[in-house]
Amino acid sequence: METTSTTTTTLVKDIVIVGAGVSGLTTALGLQRLGIPSLVLESSDKLRATGFALLTWKNAWKALEAVGVAHILRPKHVHLHGNVTTSLITGQQTSTVSFIEKGKGGASETRCIKRELLLEALANELPSGTIRYLSKVVAIEESGFSKILHLADGTSIKTKVLIGCDGVNSVVARWLGFKAAAFVGRSAIRGCTELKNNHGFEHKFMQFFGDDFRAGAIPIDDKTLYWFFTWTPSPQGKEMEDNPAKLKQFVLEKLEKLQSDIRTVIENTELHSFMSSPLRYRHPWELLFGNISKGNVCVAGDALHPMTPDLGQGGCSALEDGVVLARCLGEASLSLSNNEEGEEQEYKRIEEALMKYANERRWRSIDLVTSAYVVGTIQEGGGGSKLVSFFRDKFLAPFLAGLVLKKSDFDCGKLKEDYN
Ligand SMILES: Cc1cc2nc3c(=O)[nH]c(=O)nc-3n(C[C@H](O)[C@H](O)[C@H](O)COP(=O)(O)OP(=O)(O)OC[C@H]3O[C@@H](n4cnc5c(N)ncnc54)[C@H](O)[C@@H]3O)c2cc1C
Repeated sequence: METTSTTTTTLVKDIVIVGAGVSGLTTALGLQRLGIPSLVLESSDKLRATGFALLTWKNAWKALEAVGVAHILRPKHVHLHGNVTTSLITGQQTSTVSFIEKGKGGASETRCIKRELLLEALANELPSGTIRYLSKVVAIEESGFSKILHLADGTSIKTKVLIGCDGVNSVVARWLGFKAAAFVGRSAIRGCTELKNNHGFEHKFMQFFGDDFRAGAIPIDDKTLYWFFTWTPSPQGKEMEDNPAKLKQFVLEKLEKLQSDIRTVIENTELHSFMSSPLRYRHPWELLFGNISKGNVCVAGDALHPMTPDLGQGGCSALEDGVVLARCLGEASLSLSNNEEGEEQEYKRIEEALMKYANERRWRSIDLVTSAYVVGTIQEGGGGSKLVSFFRDKFLAPFLAGLVLKKSDFDCGKLKEDYN
């Protein structure tokens, strides 16, 4: 592929992906597996693994298989056998779900994986030089059938295909006309603790419902436990959000009735982990009417469908996006530097490929964003409503657990028919 400089600061690259997170790296690797190189621009100086870990479901493992890294990640993360939900109001177990027994869509491969290991697994399979660090995109300019990206360091990069995988504050999504992601009024705190010895917890996703919060603890491997706490901060709570010591005290007070071994792990979590992140999502109607692609530009991952973490599907669906997007571009048989084809014809081929991707992903995105919002609201007791908490613990818990599993029963397909 052409990488010549037209001026001292303007590079030319056929496909540019903005963001080296889950969606950007999966897209780049999917393309690479199909023999299509790309350039990934990342604003940080290294891979950013904010949030410690990700719960990954059946759909994520299908996507990881498709890009050929599942076998690298499996041995490092335990296979979770099921989910146990307990009400911390009544102290009763409200639902148990097996991930091993074959349900309607078959058994679910579910693991909680370290973000760092996921990003490394994807990045290590890319040719060196694919990721350009310290490359923050600050502006996008039209230039005939191409786009020119302006970086914070003054570099300009001209490209025939621009893919925005730049997360919840995406500049590419803004260029496509999407509004900033909306705040839902809830926040999350996450932590991860590696013990010296085996923690002894069963390989299960342990979930706890309170009157106005949800918490969970999940083994990553036999020594490491990931935990989370989601809540709706009151105006007083908002002040606390910048004070890790107060946040820790608050979480431990809320989890007073939690089984002591998990509480001890949270007590031993370092103070700097106690950061509260406000949860954001994209309104489903924006996804229905908005431009997921426009000409030779599109978005994937959180740039497309930021969602609340209540299904554990944001990252999993970012993996799906990467596979589908790479397949659509691959199917268009892009020989982007084909001199015999006019620029306009080439642009049309790219446009069609991205439209196909957008059509495949629109309803899946709407479904996940909406379901996550609804599930999250009920799971957290409708923001402290005693009635909602009662119905949740008495009747809805098995339904909610089943719904989470159902949404993961999705196969994004292979990179191409005869691949793998
Ligand atoms: C509390 C919480 C818990 C979650 N739990 C789960 C879970 O259990 N399972 C799950 O599947 N998902 C989960 N998610 C969702 C998941 O974290 C995201 O969906 C996923 O990280 C999205 O990946 P991405 O690559 O699209 O975006 P990101 O991971 O945000 O990556 C975007 C990348 O783009 C870079 N970037 C941004 N702007 C620019 C720019 N202008 N120029 C260059 N680079 C740029 C960033 O530095 C970053 O590296 C959770 C989210 C939250 C908030």
